[in-house]
Amino acid sequence: MKILVPIKRVIDYNVKARVKPDQTGVDLANVKMSMNPFCEIAVEEAIRMKEKGLAEEVVAVSIGPAQAQETIRTALAMGADRGIHVTTDQTVEPLAVAKLLKAVVEAESPQLVILGKQAIDDDANATGQMLAALLGWPQATFASKVEKDGEALAVTREVDGGLQTVKVNLPAIVTTDLRLNEPRYASLPNIMKAKRKPIDAKTPEDFGVDIAPRLETVKVTEPPKRKGGIKVESVADLVAKLKNEAGVL
Ligand code: AMP
Repeated sequence: MKILVPIKRVIDYNVKARVKPDQTGVDLANVKMSMNPFCEIAVEEAIRMKEKGLAEEVVAVSIGPAQAQETIRTALAMGADRGIHVTTDQTVEPLAVAKLLKAVVEAESPQLVILGKQAIDDDANATGQMLAALLGWPQATFASKVEKDGEALAVTREVDGGLQTVKVNLPAIVTTDLRLNEPRYASLPNIMKAKRKPIDAKTPEDFGVDIAPRLETVKVTEPPKRKGGIKVESVADLVAKLKNEAGVL
């Protein structure tokens, strides 16, 4: 089985996002960027499936500017076999990403696509679902466990109040939740080896996909500043404040 893993380069999760003064978006100048954490989990899961003998090849694909190549190299250093970089400096919304991924799937014929459940920059949580719809493939989202079940996959999903297991026939789309696995760090020899692994360069035009934005961002603002806390003298004082000042009791 061949596994395709779409990975997105996003603002690093440790960085405090700063909104641009004109409120059109987040300032990305001189900001550390990394692989989206849910995509790291997707790469890890694909590599584990290969290590278990369930997959023969893991292909990482990223859509984005020239620097997205670094993100692909990270996936290659973790253990992916080769990369595909669809280069564009434009903003690519989930629908455009899903259309491009559909074209990559048609060219590569993987049996499984594992995506992150969401990208932590714009929290869309949409690409995997849209790709499944465009391909007409079954989808198992928010996976916390993935097991081979005959010719199908048994995927455990975290839902409110418990776990749900769904069986999906291949080819299928899986999106990863936080508890699926703990991604490995790439070792130095593997980082060196990754430099020699191939990355195929493509453009949206190669696939004939129109990536023009369909959404308009009206405004981006900082969350309200938190007010400082106070110390109370006693439990009675706390209860009184909750009752009389906060109005929550
Ligand atoms: P989203 O729907 O934007 O929250 O993203 C969900 C998942 O779709 C990510 O974790 C990636 O696996 C994939 N994805 C989103 N944008 C891209 C991109 N530009 N390149 C490759 N994969 C992407």
